[in-house]
Amino acid sequence: MSQSGTDPNIIDGKKIASEIRGEIKAELSKINGRPFLATILVGDDPASQVYVSYKEKACNEVGMDNEIFRLDKNISGEKLIEKIIELNKDHKVNGILLQLPLPDHINEKETLLKISPDKDVDGLHYLNVGKLHAGFDGYIPCTPNGIISLLKRSNVELEGADVVVIGRSNLVGKPVARLLEMENATVTVCHSRTRNLGEITKRADIIVAAVGRAGIIKKDMVKKGAVVIDVGTNRVDGKLVGDVDFENVKEVARLITPVPGGVGPMTITMLLWNTMKAFNLQKS
Ligand code: NAP
Repeated sequence: MSQSGTDPNIIDGKKIASEIRGEIKAELSKINGRPFLATILVGDDPASQVYVSYKEKACNEVGMDNEIFRLDKNISGEKLIEKIIELNKDHKVNGILLQLPLPDHINEKETLLKISPDKDVDGLHYLNVGKLHAGFDGYIPCTPNGIISLLKRSNVELEGADVVVIGRSNLVGKPVARLLEMENATVTVCHSRTRNLGEITKRADIIVAAVGRAGIIKKDMVKKGAVVIDVGTNRVDGKLVGDVDFENVKEVARLITPVPGGVGPMTITMLLWNTMKAFNLQKS
C-alpha cells in the first residue's frame, strides 16, 4: 500500500518538504548571487553516496551551487582537516557538510569541530549546540528542525502537549527534545535503559521515535489519537522501514509519518534552509 499521504492521517513529508523548497527557491530568486554548499564525502559507503546525490539534486532544484569533494577512504585525519580548513577560508563557500559516517580510523567528533561554526550548516559544532541549548540564534540540526516544521505545518498543537522522544543522540534525540521544550511542550526523553517504555509512550500526545530499531513502537504503546513521528531508517530484507510498526499504529494514531516519505525529505530541505541562512549571514 502506498505510504505517501493517500490516507488522511498520514503526514506527507515529501509534500511539505516540496512546499518549503518552493519557498526557498522563491526567496533565492530575489537575492543577488547563489549560496554555495561544499559537501565532503570520504570513502565509498553506498548509502552516503545516495544521500550526497539527493542533496546535490535538492541544491540544483532550488538554485544553489553544490560541489562534492570526494576523498579516498584511506585519507588521514590530518589531510581531511586540511581540506576542511581550506573550505573554511574559501569565501565562495557558505556551508560545509561533512557526510557521516566517517571511516573508523578518523575521529568524527574532533573532525566535526574543525568546521567553522559560521559554515556549520549541519549544526553539530558544539558552539551551535550550545547556542541552541542556551537560547541563542545558531544553526539547528536538520532532522530535528525538519520534525518541528512537519508538526507545525500539520497544525499539531505543541504548547502544553505531552511529548515522548525515544532516543537521546546529539544528532536527533537531544536537539528535538530541546526544540519541543522551546515550543512549550512537556518533554520526556527515553533511551535504552528506560524501564516500561510502553507505559511512558502510551501517555504521550506526540511520540518521536529516533532509535534505529525496526518496529520497536507497537500499536499497544500508542494512545488513541496520538501523533507519531518516525525518524528511524532501518533496512529489513532490503526494504527501508522505520522504528514504528506503521500498518498497525496507523489504526490508532491521529497523524503518523511514513518511512520513507516522512522525516527524510525534511532533513535535506532543512539543510538547504541552513545554507540559505549562512549565505545571508555571511553577506550581511
Ligand atoms: P543513535 O545515535 O544510534 O541513537 C539511538 C538512540 O536510541 C540512543 O539514545 C539509544 O539509547 C536509543 N535506544 C536504543 N535502543 C533502545 C531501546 N530498545 N529502547 C529505547 N531507546 C533505545 O541513532 P540516531 O543517529 O539518533 O538515529 C536514530 C534513527 O534515526 C536511525 O535509524 C537513523 O538512521 C535515523 N535517522 C534518520 C534521519 C532522517 O533524515 N530520516 C536522520 C538522522 C537519523 P542510549 O543513548 O541509551 O544508547
